[in-house]
Amino acid sequence: MNIRNMTIEELGRDLVYLGYEKYRCKQLFTWLHKNVIDNIDDATNLSKDLRKTLIEKYDFSMPSIYKEYKSKIDDTKKYLILLNDDDIIESVLMKYSFGYSICISSQVGCNMGCKFCASTIGGMKRNLETYELLSQIYLIQKYNNIKVSNIVIMGLGEPLLNYDNIIRFLKIINDKFGQNIGLRNITLSTCGIIPNIEKLMNENLPINLALSLHASNDEIRKKIMPISNKYKLNDVLNSILKYFEKTNRRITFEYCLIKDINDSKNDAYNLIKLFKDSFKHTHVDFNVNLIPVNEVKENSFKRPDNITISNFKNILENNNISVTIRRELGKDISGSCGQLRASVK
Ligand code: SAH
Repeated sequence: MNIRNMTIEELGRDLVYLGYEKYRCKQLFTWLHKNVIDNIDDATNLSKDLRKTLIEKYDFSMPSIYKEYKSKIDDTKKYLILLNDDDIIESVLMKYSFGYSICISSQVGCNMGCKFCASTIGGMKRNLETYELLSQIYLIQKYNNIKVSNIVIMGLGEPLLNYDNIIRFLKIINDKFGQNIGLRNITLSTCGIIPNIEKLMNENLPINLALSLHASNDEIRKKIMPISNKYKLNDVLNSILKYFEKTNRRITFEYCLIKDINDSKNDAYNLIKLFKDSFKHTHVDFNVNLIPVNEVKENSFKRPDNITISNFKNILENNNISVTIRRELGKDISGSCGQLRASVK
């Protein structure tokens, strides 16, 4: 078991079980998750005896950065992260006016099968363990000598299908003895796994939720997102409503604009109607984030022209819906939404 998989409470329990003082967990946790030491012998305030016991009982290894790609058009950097079993995932570092944000992967590949997305092409190999989720942040921070302020869980994989590790990840990254990154600065994007959206809202970990909507009705959504065969749009939106009521966090709806699939004026009006119908009894604070589809060489989906995109945006705005168009960062290094892969070396 990798030692960085454990929350501070779990470390404390183990230390007591092994015959050490519980308060040591704070020191140990700080070394592991704030200072991020490679070698436990650097933890000088822990006794030699405790260090020896820990080395015998736990794995301390971390993944490594295999390759860095720097965008020439903006400050985005993409990292191939080599896992201990030789699998590779991708993470992206983005620079904003407010600071740095990292997009992390949650699984090696993805099996959601969204037709427009590169991450799902090779299927899903496995879930990432908690320490592998954390390491993406620790490695990129160290490599660049920076501290990130925001995290988006929007890379490879469907995070709500790696639920337990995501919950541990959130507890650890938010811990004041570790990186202390605020839950308000963390956004998880899901294609809409209803039972786990409802589980998440009861964890007392009020992160921001983004839903990959991409269509205004089930018929279109089914064509591009196979998960819609399992969960109907009305039910998904109902679970989003409950998430909002419970957490009061502003919801993001991601809407990938694809030429001739979901980009017409009619689609925009249907989308407005969908929101009106779904949220007619309760006010929900939400933003629609339009993402002009990014190119993926294996499929033929095309980006709409700029006029179509701004028409779509204007229709929503004229109906008092808050809309943003996602900046296409790191396009030249295939670092944009839907372009990440579990790459082969
Ligand atoms: N599985 C999660 C996390 C992926 S997040 C989810 O579905 O939300 C990545 C976001 O980029 C999602 O909204 C996804 O639908 C979107 N996306 C996927 N492929 C894309 C593409 N080719 N162009 C633009 N956005 C894409």
